[in-house]
Amino acid sequence: MRFADRRLFSASMSKPTRDGKFMRLALAEARKALDEGEVPIGAVAVRRGRVVARGHNRRNALGDLTAHAEMMCLRDLSRREGLAKRLSDVTIYSTLEPCAMCSGAMIHHRVARCVWGESDTLLGAAGGALDILNRRTSRVRGKGGVLRKECRALLLEFFEKQLGRPATSWEDIRLPNE
Ligand SMILES: [Zn+2]
Repeated sequence: MRFADRRLFSASMSKPTRDGKFMRLALAEARKALDEGEVPIGAVAVRRGRVVARGHNRRNALGDLTAHAEMMCLRDLSRREGLAKRLSDVTIYSTLEPCAMCSGAMIHHRVARCVWGESDTLLGAAGGALDILNRRTSRVRGKGGVLRKECRALLLEFFEKQLGRPATSWEDIRLPNE
């Protein structure tokens, strides 16, 4: 085995990163959404290495178009902790790049960091379609592309099932009202 090959091998066998570990939990939330017939997007909130809230897209279940996975986490934390405690020690992991609403909510809550999987060039507000997450005055540190392939595969699975045909990009076949 050549040196370069060995390096590749050891990289693929290395233990999962911390971000990858929590993104897997967000993916488990996304699968719950898929099972419930919702667009499969999931999120978890993590504080000092512990999951403190979980959420998945529940727009149909709640009849509420703002019931995004990230909002479910933030609302749950607000309910339990009140507004006195800002979330400046919390990282939100989401399987999809946050939209403008969720990015805005994270800024209001002073979330420290947001990590996402798949980019969203249609509605993403962390650099995909626009960038409101990364503000000079109210910055949420962002990182995308964590387990992107897995996050994208779930979205493709959902939209292919809805449309009844294969697709190479979930964004191309995204339903007009999604
Ligand atoms: Zn959102």
